[in-house]
Amino acid sequence: MRYVKPHYYDGFKCIADKCPDTCCAGWQIVVDDDTMEKYEAFAFGATSSEDEFALRMQESIDWEEGCFLQHGRRCAMLNDQNLCDLISAKGEGYLCETCNRYPRHVEEFEGLREYSLSLSCPVVADMMLKMTEQTRFLVEEDDLPDPLEEEFEDFDFMLFTQLEDAREVIFDILRNRKLSMTERMAILMDMARDMQDCLDEDRLFDLQDVIEVYGKRLTKLSQAESCQGECTRALMPVILEGEDRYWQLKESFEIYTKLERLREEWTEVLEGTYEELYAGGYKEYEVIYKEFCEAVTDKWQAQQDQQTWEVFLEQILTFFLYTYFCGAVYDDCIYSKVAMSVMSTCYIREFIMYTWLTQGKKVSLDECIRVAYRYAREIEHSDLNLNDLEQWLMDRR
Ligand code: SF4
Repeated sequence: MRYVKPHYYDGFKCIADKCPDTCCAGWQIVVDDDTMEKYEAFAFGATSSEDEFALRMQESIDWEEGCFLQHGRRCAMLNDQNLCDLISAKGEGYLCETCNRYPRHVEEFEGLREYSLSLSCPVVADMMLKMTEQTRFLVEEDDLPDPLEEEFEDFDFMLFTQLEDAREVIFDILRNRKLSMTERMAILMDMARDMQDCLDEDRLFDLQDVIEVYGKRLTKLSQAESCQGECTRALMPVILEGEDRYWQLKESFEIYTKLERLREEWTEVLEGTYEELYAGGYKEYEVIYKEFCEAVTDKWQAQQDQQTWEVFLEQILTFFLYTYFCGAVYDDCIYSKVAMSVMSTCYIREFIMYTWLTQGKKVSLDECIRVAYRYAREIEHSDLNLNDLEQWLMDRR
């Protein structure tokens, strides 16, 4: 078996009652079947010394739906000090899989497990987005067979190998800090489109050519200093600018208004962003956009522990691509995995711009991080939202 994790993975530690936005509120916590059986046996068959807590369990779980009940959108087990009464009474080992794992996430592939930490946790977001160094991925291997071997009977190993190769090139593009983030995102979108064409047209063997072409293109771009400007331009994709960029952002914004909303405050963010950024038309947007870009350059950077705006965006995009890209082996949707990652990075930037605008044209790194983890909560905590967003992107390709 191979196991992959980002280099900061083991540094995570939950801060429980000190958390600025606990994960035990605002979303439905589903209990896995094995744990439900355990909870049921305890809640309805406890010994007299445990009767009081057993009764609390009976009243805190939706036994039909298999999830914790909520009081005022907070988990019924969460007390006023933001501590979990289930842990206090029965210990951490008694938690269901969702609570036990979060914010840890694992993607399962044949013979491989990829571990990540969710951007939706404030502590993870803080670790990830204050990091100025590039994310490294640590690989470990052992001789054990895959315990889920039988479930991978139909696993497309050939496609997966291509996806892993492609992701290496994707990370190389992403790590190239000589290019702006806008340029990097545009190249990645082109590459995703070309790879998706191969899959759609049943040209699986051409995938490797596409990967090599983009690898070589990157090498040439990296040597661009010794190259004439024209050569560099020929290697660059078309980048949406000015009015085209505004219309694209305004029109695509609509999908966010159609997704499931997990928290009421998200509605305010969506409505406010639309009103302040897009409703006034292109000229108004462009003035705001230019001023914002100036605000998050040198001066902002000097105040933010050396974190730069471009690296901040790079970390967000790295997270999404690492977590989701190889999942295309299960649905053949390469394009939407990349587009969803790029789109999320772009709209987190837009939501930060809205925050900056409404806070007297000031925004700290901590506030940017808050916007990022709140976005991740809305999108990542709902499979429905992830699926709808991907489907919408595939339909519009
Ligand atoms: S969101 Fe993260 S830090 Fe906060 S309570 Fe949950 S796991 Fe702990």
